Amino acid sequence: MVASYFRQSDVKIARVALPTPLHQVFDYYWPFSQPIEPGIRVTVPFGRRSLVGVVVDSCDTPSVTPERMRKVSRVHDQQPLLPPALVKLLLWASSYYHHPIGEVLASALPVNLRKGSDAVPQQLTAYRATDLADELALDSLTRAPLQHRILQRILEIHRTDPNGGMLPDALKLMGSSWRQAINQLTKKGWVESFDTELVSASTPTDTVPMLLPEQQVAVDSIRGSFGEFGCFLLNGITGSGKTEVYLRLITEQVAKGHQVLVLVPEISLTPQLLQRFQRRIQGVLVSLHSALNDTERAHYWLQAANGTADVVIGTRSAVFTPMPRLGLIVIDEEHDGSLKQQEGFRYHARDLSLMRARDCSCPVVLGSATPSMESLNNCAKGRYDQLILSQRAGDAQSPEIGLLDIRRRPLTEGMSDTLISAIGEQLDSGGQVLIFLNRRGFAPTLLCNDCGATADCKRCDAHMTVHATRGVLRCHHCGAERPVPQGCESCGSVRLDTRGYGTERIEQALQKRFPETVIARIDRDTTRRRGALEKQLADATSGISQLLVGTQMLAKGHHFPNVSLVGILDVDRGLYGTDYRALEQMGQLLVQVAGRAGRAQRRGKVLVQTRSPDNPLLQTLIREGYGPFAAEVLKDREAAALPPYTFVALIRAEASSAAAPRQFLQAIVASVNDRPVAGLSCFGPVPAPIERVSGRYRAQLLVQANSRSSLNRMLSELTQRLDQSKESRQTRWSIDVDPVDFF
Ligand code: ADP
Ligand code: ZN
Ligand code: ZN
Repeated sequence: MVASYFRQSDVKIARVALPTPLHQVFDYYWPFSQPIEPGIRVTVPFGRRSLVGVVVDSCDTPSVTPERMRKVSRVHDQQPLLPPALVKLLLWASSYYHHPIGEVLASALPVNLRKGSDAVPQQLTAYRATDLADELALDSLTRAPLQHRILQRILEIHRTDPNGGMLPDALKLMGSSWRQAINQLTKKGWVESFDTELVSASTPTDTVPMLLPEQQVAVDSIRGSFGEFGCFLLNGITGSGKTEVYLRLITEQVAKGHQVLVLVPEISLTPQLLQRFQRRIQGVLVSLHSALNDTERAHYWLQAANGTADVVIGTRSAVFTPMPRLGLIVIDEEHDGSLKQQEGFRYHARDLSLMRARDCSCPVVLGSATPSMESLNNCAKGRYDQLILSQRAGDAQSPEIGLLDIRRRPLTEGMSDTLISAIGEQLDSGGQVLIFLNRRGFAPTLLCNDCGATADCKRCDAHMTVHATRGVLRCHHCGAERPVPQGCESCGSVRLDTRGYGTERIEQALQKRFPETVIARIDRDTTRRRGALEKQLADATSGISQLLVGTQMLAKGHHFPNVSLVGILDVDRGLYGTDYRALEQMGQLLVQVAGRAGRAQRRGKVLVQTRSPDNPLLQTLIREGYGPFAAEVLKDREAAALPPYTFVALIRAEASSAAAPRQFLQAIVASVNDRPVAGLSCFGPVPAPIERVSGRYRAQLLVQANSRSSLNRMLSELTQRLDQSKESRQTRWSIDVDPVDFF
């Protein structure tokens, strides 16, 4: 057999996907005796450069003239780094999303491996408890809260596994100054470091509750699909025990030797969630989150790929992790926008995981209290099985929701008197209050009272947001900043006023009104530092912070057991949003935020401020709940021929002049009109909702089709043509299939 590799006539050609923006693969001679296998990384010459790419196929006849063919210069892997099924999935994704295959494959690999580094897990430094560490040591740390939290956790691990420890990625999530804390603990002799390749396998410590009848039905149904493809929508209100259902299923599959992939929104991936999993699952659990550095990411990815890790819990991009024994995929908060990648390769992790599950014959569980319209429609069409959890587990009750009509009412800093007195009452009786406003900063506009000019971004069509604490104006689109001016930038008048409200302003106003109360503001500004969010959430959970003010960061997946009142300030923005998804997102956000209330003993209350108390959809949502609301939204979508009843793609273009992107898109419309496709229409081009960002003008074109295949065909022809054309190199353009956002 070996001899055949050396036969002259046996010309071998590898098809290689390279990180370039072209929608094609490249052929290279294969001068090695090692067989050509998809998923192997190679270095090849490309122009005057060398690039690392991934083999996707082999062939006998090259697609370019033999004289122009070059040789693969180096092979990086003896065995495919990406298994064949995953390569196949990525090829499919490249054609579905019309994104260059080379970039698709690159985004599936951790950065280090993408650059060609060796595919072996490195040793990492971990920390474990010494024999000197005990409860007394812990008690002495009351004045060093981070050291206390870390030692507590390390001791907890030590009790279940004397050799177990904590790796830096888990420590990072505990607090930004974890390294200092660890150094202190080491100096005191309570913690020691050791090198390890393996993360410790956890031993379950939590007791397993009896399932409620609906949970039992869910577990049984999904279990019935082990070993085959099936998609289940676990539609359960907040606190109904969805996570408990996942844990049962995961435990079972891991015990049988399978691997499980769990996808969650970035914001949910906190130590609390990881520890809840660790305390229940017997096996090696790794998490892939944004706080990992490149070495750690590659390390855990490889442990999943070589089968060491039993459970991978991660955000969106974890969907590409190779898992040879995959037996179950869980997607928590399946409606969450963060599952969709919004730049570059714009994939939806939920949709890809369905394809993945189909390939390896395993079930997918999509969990949510507010399912996406797509998933609800798939249930209605019989493609998914819907499992409903209608009761809260434990003794918590669902909150009572009320609308506060704020028309013609005096508002204090954007809040009605009714809301403010309700906050006061709750605080007096020892409750915890959450105020939700999906806008950070102090105020979204700085206005001159004399000439009416607003402080705008110089490079975007947008107002600058006032950030009072830092004394700056900041553009939320390009990040530009300048000091808050003393006088109007147009006329010099000093009569400047802020308009509108952001979380910072609400926090200040509430602090003034309730000076004794500990307030925590949770938004992107206060949680930018690593570990800051973790600390804020810990304080919120333990009840140190009595009043929480925050953006959508507060809406997702956290358990604040003491929250007894939720105030929602800006629901109207969602009612009159700019695109057809705004309404769905508003409904989801409202229900998710409301779900934070009344999780333990007291029944929670939710007050929603609105200027449209009679809006029928808002009424349905408040009175009848998310299900009937979603049914209405779906009816409207069907009547308007919008997704999920039709299929759309958004083509975006941008350039340094306003005319260029519109002309570019106009040419696409013209070519579609030249050869019309039945059931396919173009809407636009129109300027993007914010046309100029960072000095570049943006326009967009919506393509809508009544079948997936005609949309797909049109986009394939388009990308083929644009790859060849010159104008496509002057305009930056992108295709977004099944868009989630419209800016
Ligand atoms: P969800 O994921 O739907 O928000 P969780 O699984 O987090 O719900 O459950 C909410 C709370 O109820 C948790 O504290 C959980 O431990 C508890 N719980 C879940 N299922 C049960 C059960 N069958 N019996 C008792 N408590 C339960
Ligand atoms: Zn002015
Ligand atoms: Zn800007």
